[in-house]
Amino acid sequence: MSDASERPLTYTSTRGSAPELGFGDVLLAGLAVDGGLYCPTTVPELPTVTAEMSYQEAAAAIMAPYVAGTFDVGTVRTMADDAYRSFRSPSVCPVHELASGRHLLDLTQGPTLAFKDVALQMVGRMLDAQLERRGERVTVIGATSGDTGSAAIEALANNRNVDVVILHPLDRVSEVQRRQMTTVVASNISNVAIEGTFDDCQDLVKAAFADEVLRQEMNLAAVNSINWARVMAQIVYYVTSARAVRPDGGPVSFAVPTGNFGNILAGWYAKRMGLSVDRLIIASNRNDVLTRFFETGRLIIESVEPSLSPSMDIQISSNFERLLWEASGRDGDAIVDLLAALRSEGRVDVPEAWCDAIRAEFDGYRLDDEGILAEIASVSSDSELLIDPHTAVGTYAARRAQADGVKSPIIVLSTADPAKFPDAVERAVGARPELPAHLSELLTRSERFETMTNDLDAIAAKLRSLRS
Ligand SMILES: *Cc1c(COP(=O)(O)O)cnc(C)c1O
Repeated sequence: MSDASERPLTYTSTRGSAPELGFGDVLLAGLAVDGGLYCPTTVPELPTVTAEMSYQEAAAAIMAPYVAGTFDVGTVRTMADDAYRSFRSPSVCPVHELASGRHLLDLTQGPTLAFKDVALQMVGRMLDAQLERRGERVTVIGATSGDTGSAAIEALANNRNVDVVILHPLDRVSEVQRRQMTTVVASNISNVAIEGTFDDCQDLVKAAFADEVLRQEMNLAAVNSINWARVMAQIVYYVTSARAVRPDGGPVSFAVPTGNFGNILAGWYAKRMGLSVDRLIIASNRNDVLTRFFETGRLIIESVEPSLSPSMDIQISSNFERLLWEASGRDGDAIVDLLAALRSEGRVDVPEAWCDAIRAEFDGYRLDDEGILAEIASVSSDSELLIDPHTAVGTYAARRAQADGVKSPIIVLSTADPAKFPDAVERAVGARPELPAHLSELLTRSERFETMTNDLDAIAAKLRSLRS
């Protein structure tokens, strides 16, 4: 082995004109200065992971090479032990058999009952440790239409070096979603209900970041899904579930309910590390820009249509840029041109060679709302498992892929607990799912949030008050 292989790995921007950085900088940077997303410059080899290892042990082994130079393997292990203590299942991300050749990977055992907990619980700890070491403090500001806000709040509550301000649209999130955010008791967490829509909240966050004075003064940060650390932490469950289903190391496929492409991208990295992966199956709801891309080789932006699986209601999946960059042979200039054309024209033809590279590994299927209700009902009657409207898109895609000839066992990623979407589930099966015990008292706990008008000055004053 040469010395080079032992140097900590670096990260390269997808747009080719930002400096290469180590993990510690990428963790804090979010977006690269050229607007690109950071990706590992070399992809490490898969370490030995056996079906007997604990999830936490596997997590430390898999993440260690990505964070080398910032955290050692023992530190990552300690963080994983801490991060996953609150999960309801001791195996953290358990696997269940769904039907012959189809399995369900349950990613819903965390504090907010959705898959984002798995990565954010880890990333929150890494962020706090890195800030502590540098003697810095950041203010995380985010907008949420429901789920991301609570996962970030649960991950960052009581961090010593992070203040969190989450904006949600007043009266436009469900009561359970609001209470999951507003009943968390921690002095570093602020919830603000904005008199406006989710888009207004998102525009306020963008405006706060665009205000250079405010941004510097408050050291504003985001923990959105373009942060590499989140993708990295998700690689782990692809490996552990593959080992659970195929202890012999044989190939498996994955069907992934997809929105921003962060989750399934982690599966692609697991494959690049050396995991034996046959097909990566993208499952989309009626917002199907990716499945249409598979059919036409063209990316077309349309307006977002609300669906029964709201966390997948996205038109342009930001993490798709990472895959396009790899498919282009890491041509940052070509990525800049492609995205500029997409922004100005609203559509762009992806070069044939890139499409071929992507189609060689991925399949895509879509399911509309009516199909989602039918799928929840049919899974419930066939297997007695109750699934949520996001997971339903995945189980459907897996069935279709099997019918289309996929022979390897297919692992469907279950991304939310059905109790988070009681109305859709009740429409499908005629009964309302119950919240798990630790959340059932949610409806009686007291809430803390402020209501504000849709106005950057008010938000700026709120942010500044946190530091006084
Ligand atoms: C965020 C989310 C998704 C989509 O995941 P991406 O990483 O954005 O593709 C799917 N299901 C649920 C329940 C989610 O919260």
